[in-house]
Amino acid sequence: MSFPLYAPAEEHEMLRETVRALADEKIAPRAAAADENEEFPWEVYKDLVAADLQAVHIPEAYGGAGADALATVIVIEEVARACASSSLIPAVNKLGTVPLLLSASEDLKQRYLRPVAAGEAMFSYALSEPEAGSDAAAMKTRAERDGDHYVLNGTKMWITNAGVSEYYTVMAVTHPSAGARGISAFVVEKDDEGVSFGPKEKKLGIKGSPTRQVILENVRIPESRMIGEPGTGFKTALATLDHTRITIAAQALGIAQGALDHAIGYVKERKQFGKRIADFQGLQFMVADMAMKLEAARQLTYAAAAKSELAMNGTPVKDLTFFSSAAKCAASDAAMEITTDAVQLLGGYGYTRDFPVERMMRDAKITQIYEGTNQIQRMVMARQLLK
Ligand SMILES: Cc1cc2nc3c(=O)[nH]c(=O)nc-3n(C[C@H](O)[C@H](O)[C@H](O)COP(=O)(O)OP(=O)(O)OC[C@H]3O[C@@H](n4cnc5c(N)ncnc54)[C@H](O)[C@@H]3O)c2cc1C
Repeated sequence: MSFPLYAPAEEHEMLRETVRALADEKIAPRAAAADENEEFPWEVYKDLVAADLQAVHIPEAYGGAGADALATVIVIEEVARACASSSLIPAVNKLGTVPLLLSASEDLKQRYLRPVAAGEAMFSYALSEPEAGSDAAAMKTRAERDGDHYVLNGTKMWITNAGVSEYYTVMAVTHPSAGARGISAFVVEKDDEGVSFGPKEKKLGIKGSPTRQVILENVRIPESRMIGEPGTGFKTALATLDHTRITIAAQALGIAQGALDHAIGYVKERKQFGKRIADFQGLQFMVADMAMKLEAARQLTYAAAAKSELAMNGTPVKDLTFFSSAAKCAASDAAMEITTDAVQLLGGYGYTRDFPVERMMRDAKITQIYEGTNQIQRMVMARQLLK
């Protein structure tokens, strides 16, 4: 009899060591420049591809490493510990491709997952619009049928890694009178005629990851690019988030761990009043609280990952939606608190770009906002509890 795994196995810990070594050696040294120059870290991408870590979740049947959800969490966590922007490479590759894994035809999976597994293409996810954020079902992007093609028109907003990704899962309205049941999902390619991108958003954090509008003007694509049946796109979009909110939790854990590690190193070195500041009990309690919140969020995230893995393999998991929202919400709130406290522990130095904790504090903020704000996560959890 097999039981769900809630704790990492030896293989998971070995994977963690591998990713941590790569992150310390190759990703951390480039993190400040990716932030400062607001440039996508292509060198990091190449290193992740060389180590086969850019999209570990893709099953072996599509040329991938076939890593389970917990292994994927660990990869994202360890990359984020060094550079949150870089962690969006494995995270968004998962976000863009889970709709295909859940709902697409075998042909579509074979065609679009293999290049991602091979490191030849990245995949973004385009749900949000300028007027439809938390209320994503209010989207206006239209996909109108024209013979055996669809013609897409509209503007998707805030799309992570837009412009650097080759492929996009795009949700669009096919049946305007049917509400959320009138939304369908499609694969759109960067090179499809009529696809263009807005300028890079000028953001507080994750500056190494481009966030841009995806503008669709009379983009004509074959009907075979629809993911699943007509009208199932919104359902697929939400089912995807059940799995990928856990990866945002992983990103938050990594950012928080990076800040905590740095702050611990600092307070053991820095002297004031003739002693190490680590000897002041006021700071000891802060460090203990930071580590406690982080570990609680980590255990919840790993439990959620175990449930995600079960669900991906076809076992119905009634509380996956609750767990993925709870993990994302708890880990991102913890990351915001922990990174803010890390800046505090470094005093004035923490407030400068000479140390990484201010970047980590800015990067942590997004984890409370995307893939549903934490207000929306609380709504989702309450709905599960009260239904
Ligand atoms: C850097 C970045 C990257 C992103 N990447 C992607 C991506 O790759 N793909 C994608 O599709 N989207 C992406 N998003 C979009 C993101 O998911 C949305 O920004 C988010 O869902 C919130 O939508 P909104 O910005 O329109 O805010 P709004 O929905 O306008 O919310 C504004 C405020 O109102 C609150 N609020 C709204 N409704 C309620 C309610 N019913 N009850 C209580 N409070 C409520 C919100 O919590 C928030 O505090 C990204 C966003 C950012 C900033």
